[in-house]
Amino acid sequence: MEEYDVVVIGASVAGLRASYSLAKKGLNVLCLDRKQEIGVPKQCGEGLSLNHLRRLRIKPQSCWAVQKIKGAALYAPNGKKVEIDFGKTMGFIIERKIFEKYLAKKASKAGATIKVRSNVVGVKRTKKGVEVRVQDLFSAKYSAKLVFACDGPQSAIANMLGLPIRIKASDLDSGLQYEMTNIEFEQPELIHLWFGNNVAPRGYVWLFPKGKEHANVGIGIGAHIKASAKEYLDKWIASRPGIRKGSIVEVNSGVIPVGGLLEKMTANNLIVIGDAAHQVNPIHGGGMGLAMEAADIAASVAVKAFEKGDFSDRALDEYNKIWWEKYGNRLKRILRIRYMVESLSDKDLNAIAESFTGEEIMMLQSGELAKSKKFIIKKLIKRPRLAKIMLRYLTS
Ligand SMILES: Cc1cc2nc3c(=O)[nH]c(=O)nc-3n(C[C@H](O)[C@H](O)[C@H](O)COP(=O)(O)OP(=O)(O)OC[C@H]3O[C@@H](n4cnc5c(N)ncnc54)[C@H](O)[C@@H]3O)c2cc1C
Repeated sequence: MEEYDVVVIGASVAGLRASYSLAKKGLNVLCLDRKQEIGVPKQCGEGLSLNHLRRLRIKPQSCWAVQKIKGAALYAPNGKKVEIDFGKTMGFIIERKIFEKYLAKKASKAGATIKVRSNVVGVKRTKKGVEVRVQDLFSAKYSAKLVFACDGPQSAIANMLGLPIRIKASDLDSGLQYEMTNIEFEQPELIHLWFGNNVAPRGYVWLFPKGKEHANVGIGIGAHIKASAKEYLDKWIASRPGIRKGSIVEVNSGVIPVGGLLEKMTANNLIVIGDAAHQVNPIHGGGMGLAMEAADIAASVAVKAFEKGDFSDRALDEYNKIWWEKYGNRLKRILRIRYMVESLSDKDLNAIAESFTGEEIMMLQSGELAKSKKFIIKKLIKRPRLAKIMLRYLTS
């Protein structure tokens, strides 16, 4: 049996970044994925903010940072457009398949071993640490002191090590996306988002440009909603001649945890990271940046565990504390905004688009509750019912 310090299960953004950070700190790391190719399928709109990249010290590369994004255009159910243009690059639409391979190269160069076609079918604790059993092309058994569960939204690995992770259907979004070419849209330096209960109940339709005539066109809706994401997306595309005329060159789908934040993401010999730990922005469903930043926290906690030779839940608890302090509390506030938005009618959404500036909507969606309360009171003075609903969610 091959021995490692840490076995990372899942070689997507969380797992690859964790492997890089652990290897950089001198640990002996194995990263396993059941896929046959890193980055494929992509299951992603490919939007990534510059803030995340800066904090991660990842310099955007032209091979994967394919479209600069300077802001967003939001469309209310009545078509009213609210534009947020920062006039400078705030993020990128990336080629995620290339980005993940880039992360894999960095991790491998730092000393980590990555293996695809390695489906982890069993993980159990032993006297020495953990035993990981793999079936598929590279069937094997590995031992390690620590396991990082980076195995995505419906994590089975944490459960195998006695940390049951549950999520309600209402805290999951169903995502469906077509990568489309030969389509017409304006302002390729903005991401475009359409809202409304008839457009995308409890979610939105997005168009994330990748050049002038090419974009990811997708939808996220509550997974508990009876009609399918495809029905809504196809209906939306059918109503837009400029999009309808294009071709679909790729289909992507997947579930997105937009709630169910976990107080506890550790157990003896185990740290859970990324979608597996529901570390996703509850309003827009972005999880790549959060997953990679959590991976860095996990790696530094793991290094301390190795220094002390203590891999107990208690020793790893620092990961929960740091993550909640840095990200969890803000995401919890953003979750309240999500609950608020989904309680609103199309008429209310139209009123918001007519009353607030793009900057104010940005502030609201980023969980700045105190500042948001102030402009809600000021701007909705003639709409007391809507103000009351919004303030109730912000205050509760
Ligand atoms: C349609 C859609 C659009 C999205 N758009 C965006 C966006 O624009 N921007 C953004 O930031 N986020 C977006 N997200 C969310 C983002 O894709 C996730 O948050 C991100 O992929 C989480 O990364 P992860 O590494 O935690 O998990 P995942 O990317 O889910 O990776 C988990 C990995 O674990 C592997 N695995 C699972 N089980 C096993 C096993 N037993 N053995 C071996 N390997 C295993 C899987 O093969 C997979 O590679 C979107 C999601 C969807 C579904």
